Amino acid sequence: MTSASGQSFSELREAVRALCATFPPEYWRNLDAERAYPEAFVRALTQAGWLSALIPDEYGGAGLGITEASVILEEVNRSGGNAGACHAQMYIMGTLLRHGSPEQKQRYLPEIASGALRLQSFAVTEPSTGSDTTKLKTTAVRKGNRYIVNGQKVWTSRVQHSDLMLLLARTTALPETKSKSDGLSVFLVDLRASIGAGIVVRPIRNMPNHETNELFFDNLEVPAYNLIGEEGKGFRYILDGMNAERILIAAECVGDGRWFLEKAATYARERVVFDRPIGQNQGVQFPLARAYVNVEAADLMRFKAAELFDRGEPCGAQANMAKLLAADASWEAANACLQTHGGFGFAAEYDVERKFRETRLYQIAPISTNLILAYIAEHVMHLPRSY
Ligand SMILES: Cc1cc2nc3c(=O)[nH]c(=O)nc-3n(C[C@H](O)[C@H](O)[C@H](O)COP(=O)(O)OP(=O)(O)OC[C@H]3O[C@@H](n4cnc5c(N)ncnc54)[C@H](O)[C@@H]3O)c2cc1C
Repeated sequence: MTSASGQSFSELREAVRALCATFPPEYWRNLDAERAYPEAFVRALTQAGWLSALIPDEYGGAGLGITEASVILEEVNRSGGNAGACHAQMYIMGTLLRHGSPEQKQRYLPEIASGALRLQSFAVTEPSTGSDTTKLKTTAVRKGNRYIVNGQKVWTSRVQHSDLMLLLARTTALPETKSKSDGLSVFLVDLRASIGAGIVVRPIRNMPNHETNELFFDNLEVPAYNLIGEEGKGFRYILDGMNAERILIAAECVGDGRWFLEKAATYARERVVFDRPIGQNQGVQFPLARAYVNVEAADLMRFKAAELFDRGEPCGAQANMAKLLAADASWEAANACLQTHGGFGFAAEYDVERKFRETRLYQIAPISTNLILAYIAEHVMHLPRSY
């Protein structure tokens, strides 16, 4: 099958595919069984320079756009792998790049680009406030040349495989701010110095094989020079980075969708029941064909959003729509693929149930489908705010 979108980037795709081919399905299947991190894969992707795609040349990165970055992650998922283990190394640094001081950028970006430092953790979500981010309760109080952090986060991913973490915390109490999005600040936390010295990490076993954790902050000391940008403006800074994240995750979902449909079409051509290939039945064909149409449509919106992003134009609506369409399309493809495989879809050796669990995440994280719909209703269609 070929893509209908006409967007090829064929050399880039071929190079990423060649690397991914050295990590066959058994590699991912074994990691899933052992609940292990794809260390060798992430190292190979780093050494090939793909994870530094978005870091400008002057800091040692590849200086590519979000369009190319999205193609890289799409190909990882399309190969049967899971870019969720390392995608954040590409985009979390965006907050530092856009809002960090020249000294912070010079100090950290070259080492992030080389992979000597991993910045792939971002602690936003809290257990008691969930999607209502501006109500988060973790505080950072300035004492001389340090901030003292207390509170709790949940679902903070890749902490055990990061050197640095971005942290969103409240520096001005909510009642003292003009707007609820004021008074939040972003910090770069050195995990190597902080775990066991102010941060306790408790891993959460979860549906896919995703390294994610609860974090407890007890008088964690963060040097004041690790504040990014201005105190109190952190919420705006993180919003800037969300469009990049949504476009990249949309591309991963497109990759998943294509993996499911290729796998399902191959099986449907080969599996013979009632003396004919199951794929000859319209009841088997049509769900696959419909999912194919929806993956291709989502892909167009992903490229539209990426194009706007790379031109520096507003793309909030397109990035959100791309993420919603792609997550829905990959989930539809996952269901159609599982159904096509009958009972064998449940057997781990076919990889379908693993990818099914992995792609399901994107209905919820990093933003749930309902919250995207609420964004479109309010900010694009100018309906009254619903929450
Ligand atoms: C595996 C995994 C990895 C994650 N990694 C990270 C990470 O690295 N960093 C991080 O900060 N977070 C991370 N998250 C958290 C993720 O971003 C949140 O789970 C997500 O934003 C939803 O928040 P919540 O789970 O608190 O759900 P809630 O906010 O409690 O919502 C529960 C349900 O109610 C719906 N809902 C809530 N309010 C409304 C409303 N007003 N209108 C309609 N529907 C509504 C939601 O859509 C959702 O379906 C991760 C989550 C998972 C599962």
